[in-house]
Amino acid sequence: MSGAADRRKAILERIARAAAAAKRDPADVQLIAVSKGRSPEEIEPLIEAGQHDFGENRVQEALAKWPELLARNSNVRLHAIGRLQSNKAAEAVKLFDVLHSVDRRSLLDALAREAEKTARTPTLYVQVNIGEEEQKGGCAIGDVGELVEAVRSSPLPLAGLMAIPPLGLEAAPFFALLAKLARRHDVTSLSIGMSSDFEAAVMLGATAVRIGTALFEDE
Ligand SMILES: *Cc1c(COP(=O)(O)O)cnc(C)c1O
Repeated sequence: MSGAADRRKAILERIARAAAAAKRDPADVQLIAVSKGRSPEEIEPLIEAGQHDFGENRVQEALAKWPELLARNSNVRLHAIGRLQSNKAAEAVKLFDVLHSVDRRSLLDALAREAEKTARTPTLYVQVNIGEEEQKGGCAIGDVGELVEAVRSSPLPLAGLMAIPPLGLEAAPFFALLAKLARRHDVTSLSIGMSSDFEAAVMLGATAVRIGTALFEDE
């Protein structure tokens, strides 16, 4: 058995190899440790190993878990990666540094209002429903330009585009499509890649990979 710090090291090496193969600088790929469902006892060894970016997919769970951890570890950046309801905008703006799932104008407006009230300005990713799936979060491919422009004219900084490819299909073509959309709209950051497909994501331009299982569990 190996610990989370060892698994993190191995993942960083795999990211570096994939980046090198694509002639990219590994320093341009941020590893986000997805800590949903993990306890503070599982999380803290990773912080001690130098992990600073963590992702949670539910605001309530993050609120229960993170304030105390953040009080002890002021260098941690918290990323919201799950679907976000507008009525959680206030809590999300207060707690998170980066929000990866902005997929509609009404949510952006709610976040912008909270930002003005609190003087907190989390960075935003526009989530794209890249496989055009009915049940999936993310804006329609045809709406990306409009939503990107809306973020650009909001008080909140735009990071880039985020997507989760359809389950059970090869991810690479969907990553490539997202990268193409990003180029079309002059966006440079891509939040793509999870435990099962992060090397392909890095080769296709990921600047943030969101990894849970491979970091917290032994294979
Ligand atoms: C859970 C989750 C991940 C991490 O998935 P793993 O397969 O455990 O690496 C990444 N992104 C989102 C949006 C998630 O909900």
